[in-house]
Amino acid sequence: MPERITRKIVEIRYENGSEIHEQFDPLSILFEMGPFLIKNARAIREKYATSYRNVLVSASALVRNTQEQKMRAYVGFNNTPYQGAQKHCAEMKSFGQADHDGYRRHDAVIVVGPTDTNMIEGITGIATPTLYPCDSCLDLLDDATVVVTVGAEEDVYEAHTGAELRHQRYVLQGATKRKRQELLANQSAEAIHDPNFIHWTGGRAVYETLVSHFDVNSLEDLRLARAEAAVAVLQDITNF
Ligand SMILES: [Zn+2]
Repeated sequence: MPERITRKIVEIRYENGSEIHEQFDPLSILFEMGPFLIKNARAIREKYATSYRNVLVSASALVRNTQEQKMRAYVGFNNTPYQGAQKHCAEMKSFGQADHDGYRRHDAVIVVGPTDTNMIEGITGIATPTLYPCDSCLDLLDDATVVVTVGAEEDVYEAHTGAELRHQRYVLQGATKRKRQELLANQSAEAIHDPNFIHWTGGRAVYETLVSHFDVNSLEDLRLARAEAAVAVLQDITNF
């Protein structure tokens, strides 16, 4: 559990950074602390986020300084007070501050935002159930960053890997309007309903069983395999 909580960070210490030999798994922390981080991000959003369009967003980036073996959650909020103001997304702020402080391993990010699909379509052009990171913010993700986009008021969410979201952007950008509509219609546009995130917390055991069977050769493969497993568990969580 957290060692230190401020407006900007939640600090979590861990021992043994030798991930490939497997003692520490940052995504176990995502399962354990997710509901707490959501609650924290929601409070920050309510207090500090500003947007002339009333699109209030906050983010909690779960990041590591692998040399010092420290993990933190950096909390950020969006700030676009008037039309034409420079864009400051919640994700940019969280990852920006994290990188600046030497926390450059981007393990996961929780983004808290609207669930009004009309509003979301107005922002991104795609009527998704939750608000995904914008194009600039997608570039801050690794392929193996787990992205959980959560409702600000409702306990609903979707989970993706950074690779999935970037692939989706690539496909949509290259597509004609008709193809785009086709692709979007095929997407399962359902968010997971998990009141009080009860299932989320229970997902940890399922996730850990799943990843205990992995046999991979590189840290990169391990991270990606873990991310995909975490997303699969989160997306299917109400069935456990
Ligand atoms: Zn953004």
